[in-house]
Amino acid sequence: MKIGVLALQGDFREHAVMLRQCGAEVSEIRKPEQMGGLRGLVVPGGESTAIGKLMDAYGFLNAIKERVAGGMGLFGTCAGLVLLARELKGGTSLEGRPQPVLGLIDMVVRRNAFGRQVDSFEADLDISAMGEAYNGSPFRAVFIRAPQIEAVGPGVAVLGRVEEKVVLARQGRFLAAAFHPELTSDTRIHRYFLEEVLA
Ligand code: GLN
Repeated sequence: MKIGVLALQGDFREHAVMLRQCGAEVSEIRKPEQMGGLRGLVVPGGESTAIGKLMDAYGFLNAIKERVAGGMGLFGTCAGLVLLARELKGGTSLEGRPQPVLGLIDMVVRRNAFGRQVDSFEADLDISAMGEAYNGSPFRAVFIRAPQIEAVGPGVAVLGRVEEKVVLARQGRFLAAAFHPELTSDTRIHRYFLEEVLA
């Protein structure tokens, strides 16, 4: 299965390593024309302002929407989750315009909702909503200046919460995590993306 990792900024290398461990054929994507034949695309953690600005400059915003209409799935972690939101709170304006987002998951997201860099933390996440194959023990989730999902539309399945706050959600072929599974050695959420979300 061919999976792309958007390699404009952020921790795309860690995602690529983990996806290869899960058996995917992985390419780093730096230009929209490299997305041909991809079953899924991962938007990594990093800075959503920087990634969004580069996505806009390179024409990714429209190109990803076209690919998605053709069946491509998406997995966004942290900054990547921010970029998938329909509505963004706490966004930074770029040259007088609101911070660009793809707007593909029907959710309202607040950036940096858990506090500043020093407020980064780890938490045990109950991921039993992902199904039997992925359950058995909680997922140790790493949050780094993480966003929160403040509201979701009716088509969005909530898969994980921390202190009642939604941090893992799925809408059809789109998956979004407020934390960084790629920074752990636990491949369950990446496998869920490959085996269930893209199935
Ligand atoms: N705070 C960052 C943002 O909003 C996300 C941080 C991260 O990806 N670890 O873009």
